[in-house]
Amino acid sequence: MEDKAQLLSRALLQLEELSGTEIRRAVQSIDDLHTTRTVVTDGAGTALFDSHEAGEGKLLLFPEVCTALEGQNVFYSRYRNTAVESRVALPLMQGGNLLGAIYLMEYNEDQGRLVSALETNVLRISIALEGGIILFSSGFSAAFTRRLRRILNSMQKMRDGDYAQKIRLRGHDELAHLASEFNILAERLDDSEQKRRQFVSDASHELKTPLATMKLLSDSILQNEMDRDTQREFIEDIGREADRLGRLTQKLLQLTKLDSAIAEEREILDAVPTVRKVVRALQPLAELRKISMECSWEKECIVMSVEDDLHQIVFNLTENAIKYNRDGGWVGITLYKTENDVILVVADRGVGIPADAMPHIFDRFYRVDKARSRAAGGAGLGLSIVHDMVERNYGTIHAEPNPGGGTRFTVTFPLFELPEME
Ligand code: ADP
Repeated sequence: MEDKAQLLSRALLQLEELSGTEIRRAVQSIDDLHTTRTVVTDGAGTALFDSHEAGEGKLLLFPEVCTALEGQNVFYSRYRNTAVESRVALPLMQGGNLLGAIYLMEYNEDQGRLVSALETNVLRISIALEGGIILFSSGFSAAFTRRLRRILNSMQKMRDGDYAQKIRLRGHDELAHLASEFNILAERLDDSEQKRRQFVSDASHELKTPLATMKLLSDSILQNEMDRDTQREFIEDIGREADRLGRLTQKLLQLTKLDSAIAEEREILDAVPTVRKVVRALQPLAELRKISMECSWEKECIVMSVEDDLHQIVFNLTENAIKYNRDGGWVGITLYKTENDVILVVADRGVGIPADAMPHIFDRFYRVDKARSRAAGGAGLGLSIVHDMVERNYGTIHAEPNPGGGTRFTVTFPLFELPEME
């Protein structure tokens, strides 16, 4: 349209005068000027030429003509009533003088049909797209809800105590990840629940035995006529069982304290004085059975630990080495350090531990020889306490047969340096 207007403008500027007849001839000479209406006005807006003729000689101040008479080009096109309507207006200028304005209007129904078809197509495509999106999102959210419900159901079952829950969700999305984390959690809970049950049943069993013995002994005293010496013997037996009960409950308390993982202040300390203290304390027990104790140490075996823990570890291992020994036997305690570690070795030439029992000796309530252990006053808790204590003090423990017969326990702690004194 704009090109047509320019073409007409050039043709008009070549005319000698801007009269209606001259303009009509110029308009007719342009082949491609297929417009609905063509108007040429003078500088005041009076139509010199109007293809509708009706306007000729009249003031035709369309808004577009007014703008063109102000020296500006106007062009716009809009789609209305199934047709495209375009309007263009140009000022007619010669040597800086405004001669008039050209106004062209085109009402194109073909273009309108094209636009309308395009409009319908776009509408159809967007409806189809919207439908697709709604379908996809409702399918997706249904699948999401179904998967979420499976996780929730399993959680509810677990809340009610069913820990053997497993959720099988396919895929690699967040929900599948959540399900796999849930499975790991359920497995751990199941495991710890089983351990708890086992512990309670073992502990009750251990508590029941001395209590039953005490009951039996006291019933015998009450029911039977017995001399004072026998009575005294029975009462001493009751006392021994009560001691056993006392030791057992003390160890159980120690274990629950370890389980509750109350963080105690660890300090950097020398292990040598603790080891020497334990050896001194257990010397009388060894002497009772003529067991010789050899103790050697290197200076400044510095570890990060709680003094009480360290004492308990050395005490339990050394006491076992004496308890599960032969009369006149030998126990060796060695404390030394390597580049990075402090190593404690407690060895004996006692009864030893059979190979098939080795993997279980750190289990709670495990005893190799029940009768012998009971006679020695044990409940199978000493080594499991040692194991837990070593671990929480950043160490490791290992048991093996002693080359000279008996057993050898090796405990390794990381070596620390004493802080500089100011
Ligand atoms: P207990 O309190 O019964 O002594 P422990 O946990 O200390 O329990 O030890 C577990 C078992 O390992 C004991 O019952 C005993 O049979 C065996 N045991 C531990 N230390 C030794 C050792 N130095 N020599 C031989 N057997 C041992």
